[in-house]
Amino acid sequence: MSALIDEFYRVHRNIPWSLLCHTRKAIIMKKSFLIFVFTCFSTVAFCQKNTDKPIALLEKMSANRSFGMKQLSLASGNFTVSYYRCEWIINPAKNYIRGTVTPYFDITSPGTSLVFDFSYALTVDSILMRSAKLVFTQYSNETLSIQLPASYTLGQKDSLSIYYKGTPVGGGFGSFVQSIHNGVPVIWTLSEPYGAKDWWPCRNGLDDKADSIDIYITHPSKYKASSNGVPEAEVQQGSTTISHYKHRYPIASYLVAFSVTNFSTFTDYAAIGNKNVPVISYVYPEDSAYFHSNVNSVMNGLSLYSNRFTPYPFLTERYGQTQFGFGGGMEHQTNSFVINAEENLVTHELAHQWFGDKVTCGSWQDIWLNEGFATFCADFLYPEIYNPSQNLINIQGDLNYVVSLPDGSVKVNDTTSTGRIFDGRLSYDKGAYLLRMLRWTLGDSLFFKGISGYLNDPKLRYGFATTADLQRNLEAVSGQSLGYFFKQWYAGQGYPSFTVQWSQTEKRKAAVTLSQTTSHPSVTFYKVPLALTFRNATEEKTVVVNFTKNNQQAKVDVGFLADTVLIDKDYQLISKDNKSIHLTAGTPPVTAVFASPNPFKSQLLVRLHGMQSQNVRLEIFSNAGQLVKKTTARPQGNDETISVTLPSTLPPGNYVLHVEGKMGVLKQQLIKE
Ligand SMILES: [Zn+2]
Repeated sequence: MSALIDEFYRVHRNIPWSLLCHTRKAIIMKKSFLIFVFTCFSTVAFCQKNTDKPIALLEKMSANRSFGMKQLSLASGNFTVSYYRCEWIINPAKNYIRGTVTPYFDITSPGTSLVFDFSYALTVDSILMRSAKLVFTQYSNETLSIQLPASYTLGQKDSLSIYYKGTPVGGGFGSFVQSIHNGVPVIWTLSEPYGAKDWWPCRNGLDDKADSIDIYITHPSKYKASSNGVPEAEVQQGSTTISHYKHRYPIASYLVAFSVTNFSTFTDYAAIGNKNVPVISYVYPEDSAYFHSNVNSVMNGLSLYSNRFTPYPFLTERYGQTQFGFGGGMEHQTNSFVINAEENLVTHELAHQWFGDKVTCGSWQDIWLNEGFATFCADFLYPEIYNPSQNLINIQGDLNYVVSLPDGSVKVNDTTSTGRIFDGRLSYDKGAYLLRMLRWTLGDSLFFKGISGYLNDPKLRYGFATTADLQRNLEAVSGQSLGYFFKQWYAGQGYPSFTVQWSQTEKRKAAVTLSQTTSHPSVTFYKVPLALTFRNATEEKTVVVNFTKNNQQAKVDVGFLADTVLIDKDYQLISKDNKSIHLTAGTPPVTAVFASPNPFKSQLLVRLHGMQSQNVRLEIFSNAGQLVKKTTARPQGNDETISVTLPSTLPPGNYVLHVEGKMGVLKQQLIKE
């Protein structure tokens, strides 16, 4: 076909093939213009591993494309921008932009110059301040330094206009893309995370939102322009049209976008409170009927998220979708760009209007505040109401993906790695599951109240947030300290495996002993509310035990003789390899192993409660699976311990202890200092 496919493969080559597999949710490829995407996915359809789902994958690809190892914003810290007027001249038939960007700035520390983020590939013709020309320099580190006409003082406000032109770099799947659909040219932009400066001068970081923005796009009249905010006017001048978009809410630079092509448009209205919010769709004419017949999921989502969280954040303006050719979606403010109308995609991008756009992650370490929330909404919250059978599939699919590896935290430990920031397993699915567990831990009422408080927090709304800000809001409404929760599920890696030993000698009461091991040494114990479901052929009862320490014992009033106990049957928690053991006469009690100290140097004391009468086999493996120690022993003394000596030459790192006896194999993660 065209350079589009070449570019797509070029992008693919930068990504490990394993990341291109997806088995859980098929992208709905409705139209022939998507064949190139389908071709790429079908080549890897044989992959067995459940890896990134389409949205995570495609958002990651988008980030890979523009992220590279580029720096965070290098704009100078002596000013903020309160307003941008952006005037762009675009002909989708030509990969080119001519523009004038006028930032209104506030001086935050005295100085004689300002530095904006801006592509070195584009040419600045002039910079004017009230018709006076300013001296400027473009640097290869993607900055534009502007000499002010005088020394500016703290609090001083002013504006200037930057006139520029050129062909933005990174075409194809870059932040500024020229392509074709059905033989018609199209240009769209997609700037997350650092691509805005590729095509317009701005502050490109996660530290400043302009209070408002006006966008004027001059284009051939046979096309339509789509951008952020309210379509205010279309003024025809000869064969060209100036389309004016007006947006009066704070906006981060990476959420500013436009597209120009022969769009068909249609408008629906969502009743939110006493407002009738326009939902404007800009779609390719050949796909107009398809998009319109699938607009219900957007309308349902607007109503659902408004009811559960806060009203749609840009209520006085509008929401909308713009079709583009990039393989996925992007949550441009008030106007998500989407490749198709698939329910999971459009409800994910819609949720970003609350989580990502209204409240934006304040650093890429906290990307889950964007992606975990959007995934939670689209995977769990939306289908819970509108597509229950899909909800169960999503819950199991996300959980299986999260526990497919024994490590990994929601917190991004390496923000220089695009793959890590946009990791579908951790930032998307584990982030979404973290929220599912918060909901389970706090209950619906406190959870949704806390999330609403977070979205309405005067320090955060229409600004930036960190995980600590979310925790503070949830603690404020619940009165509960959640430090332990975020420590184990946000900063901690891995998951627990629960063992429940239970016996019932009288009809009503059951005796239960709870224990757990963890898959990664960063968390030694997960404090959780654990649901236990007692069941027989005719009766069932679920109790929730606050599981706060290993070998915890509890009496449960069951009321009937159970034959089975299910652990967390509704998958409220991240866990794997759980064991429910019915203790009857003659069954040896089993417990988790406890090796200490951990981290260890060369001596380990392994405690095995309840196993005096049996020999057990101990094996210690390296992280790579190599056996480094093997011994058979019988626990000694009242403490039932086994002393193990490891070679002093053992390299520091992660190890795993296996203890095998009549009860099967128990495991514990170890760290060698
Ligand atoms: Zn997303």
